[in-house]
Amino acid sequence: MDQNIDEMIDHLKSYLEYLKGMGIVSLPASEMISNKMFREEKLTLKELRKELGDCKRCKLHRTRRTIVFGEGNEKATLMFIGEGPGYDEDVQGKPFVGRAGQLLTKIIESVNLSREEVYITNIIKCRPPQNRNPESDEIQSCHPFLMKQISVIQPKIICALGTFSAQTLLKTDTKITALRGKVYDLEGIKVIPTYHPAFLLRNPEKKREVWEDMKKIVELLSNNDKTKEME
Ligand code: URA
Repeated sequence: MDQNIDEMIDHLKSYLEYLKGMGIVSLPASEMISNKMFREEKLTLKELRKELGDCKRCKLHRTRRTIVFGEGNEKATLMFIGEGPGYDEDVQGKPFVGRAGQLLTKIIESVNLSREEVYITNIIKCRPPQNRNPESDEIQSCHPFLMKQISVIQPKIICALGTFSAQTLLKTDTKITALRGKVYDLEGIKVIPTYHPAFLLRNPEKKREVWEDMKKIVELLSNNDKTKEME
């Protein structure tokens, strides 16, 4: 599939401006490679996890207990990307296993999917102290690995959970309330932002909107299946 050069320049420009706005003034070579490799990643998740190693690329390694890489189906058509591990995830080494995680499991099961058939990860792989918000250098350090995870899995849809996930993936600073309810494109992958399950625990009246987003996801996944049948 060809991509228009002008569109690519615009895309790259806005990405670099976004990084600059976040205070990032230089890029490791791997960051530039990751976009190019988006469709070419030949690694397996296991190999990628090995490449991450006992990561010390950012300051979070000093306070984390465990690297929470992600879990689920390597061939998932649907990927959930949250913010970063909390206390329970740091202890267990698995994403979304605390209270918010249990709600995410219910959300997934509410549309007859299971945790085993999707893939779940976070923007950052190590717990920030006191569960503070991820900082831009931490997001930047993890970004090449997140991009490679996406390249390996090649999901049809990414559900971005909460502000940090949606803003990082879509390279924007627009609020989640304005982002949700629409479908975005990330290099051919549909991105559907929705509220973070931790936000839902505090604002249960917002569950209806997440339910609408989940129904949209399932509808898009089944349209995708039908297109495949016709090919
Ligand atoms: N919140 C997140 O964003 N990710 C987790 O893994 C757990 C809680």
